[in-house]
Amino acid sequence: MAASAPSARADVPDARHLILVLGDQLSADAAAFDGADATRDVVAMAEVEAEVHRHPNHRQRVALFFAAMRHFRDALRDRGFTVKYQRVGAKDAAESLPEYLRRMIDHYRPERVVLTEPGRHDLREALRETAAEAGADLDLREDDHFLASHADFDAWAEGRSTLTMEYFYRAMRRRYGVLMRGDDPEGDRWNLDQENREAFREAPGAIKEPIHFRPDAVTQGALDDVEDRFPDLYGTLDGFDWPVTPGEARRAVRDFVEHRLPHFGTYQDAMWAGRPYLYHSRISAALNLKLIDPRYVIEKVEEAYREGHVPLNAAEGFIRQILGWREFIRGVYWREMPGYHERNALDARRALPDLFWTGATEMACLRDVVTQLLETAYAHHIQRLMVTGLFALLYGVRPQAVHDWYMALFIDSVEWVTLPNVLGMSQYGDGGIVGTKPYTASGRYIQRQSNYCAGCRYDPTEATGADACPFTTLYWDFLIRHEERLDGNRRMNFQLANLRKKSGDEREAIAAHARTLRRKIREGTA
Ligand code: SF4
Repeated sequence: MAASAPSARADVPDARHLILVLGDQLSADAAAFDGADATRDVVAMAEVEAEVHRHPNHRQRVALFFAAMRHFRDALRDRGFTVKYQRVGAKDAAESLPEYLRRMIDHYRPERVVLTEPGRHDLREALRETAAEAGADLDLREDDHFLASHADFDAWAEGRSTLTMEYFYRAMRRRYGVLMRGDDPEGDRWNLDQENREAFREAPGAIKEPIHFRPDAVTQGALDDVEDRFPDLYGTLDGFDWPVTPGEARRAVRDFVEHRLPHFGTYQDAMWAGRPYLYHSRISAALNLKLIDPRYVIEKVEEAYREGHVPLNAAEGFIRQILGWREFIRGVYWREMPGYHERNALDARRALPDLFWTGATEMACLRDVVTQLLETAYAHHIQRLMVTGLFALLYGVRPQAVHDWYMALFIDSVEWVTLPNVLGMSQYGDGGIVGTKPYTASGRYIQRQSNYCAGCRYDPTEATGADACPFTTLYWDFLIRHEERLDGNRRMNFQLANLRKKSGDEREAIAAHARTLRRKIREGTA
């Protein structure tokens, strides 16, 4: 607060700085703690109803935030900090974060409010406004959890007609000397994705499951509060076993590197019914809540490669996700906001079918992934992009509704990462900023990468007729509907050339079948 403000009242501890910590800023190394003094500063944290109800939500996602926040609160108190903590449902609780901040400012009258930049544009602006209205000085600090600052990303993006992740990634590899041999990439190739597209020819054998973390008393309290206060959320809390502390998150990383990373690269695009994790890491939620630093993850993965524990295609493929894609996506988010959220380049207007919330469908792939999501709040990247995202794109769902769904059901969702991944990459709503073409495919892709089709009543090779796979029908219908719009996109040439081999009658039959199919999907009978 301004220097002329009245001094702290007698019944309130002196607060030099009020450090506001949000639910996805759970690191004692966060910028907000630079120069913090436990004897003079107060930390404020709040569980608020407005955040739970901002979009539909999964029980496990809300419980993860609350459990991890409460553990962080306790860790700070152990270090001597005064932590003011609002539990959801507390008497007279503030309902939103701006309201909570306002109350804290009024209560403590601090010299200054310190805040690591939130990962959401609207929240950053709202908190700025609140501090200004309350007459408090706000020290808004850039989030140095990330390896590329806003200035770094803008400097890289400046003057480029298109933003290509691959070039950004190479620049980051060079800058941080990751998987490099002198000036050259390890193995003389920057990207080994060609080696990372294998499917399982038969049922995958035993793969060590990700390490489980049994809820302790603090976590159990959070689970109980979610169950009591939010009975209408999606999914189940049964089997909640996510890492909720930095120590657990580091163990989860080491467990992944030891047991699943060696085959992560080769099988990262493979799916198998009833096997949600396969060789995947399951650490993205811990990363996005900042329980763990991406530098630690990168270091452990590179170390495993240097020690000969994992092949290069696994190490490179994983590091690209963290050092390349994750940082790139964040850069795009902040560069394009505000306004990015409203984009809808394909003019998709349909509502999200109910099956996305229930899994009630005869489509075996979608049924498996949605059921898995309701049980675990988790699906890996190909299940996200090439089953759920692909179907929403082909069906023509409004990108904002798709985004809300991903925000709701995925344990690791936070806006800066989910919005560009969903609206941009998966739904092509940004018209080509994140991806250079829509990620379209027919049911044959799913047939190649999984065993879903073997247990499905539909046939992925058929586009019309009673057994036609809805993905395949809607794939051709998508190309018919957007042929003109996508004409001229070099990367769509192959798909459009195949479309042009279809006769007028075939096209009409596909469009007619697609109309019937959409009705059935709306009615829940497909
Ligand atoms: Fe999915 Fe089509 Fe395969 Fe069925 S046939 S599992 S709907 S891709």
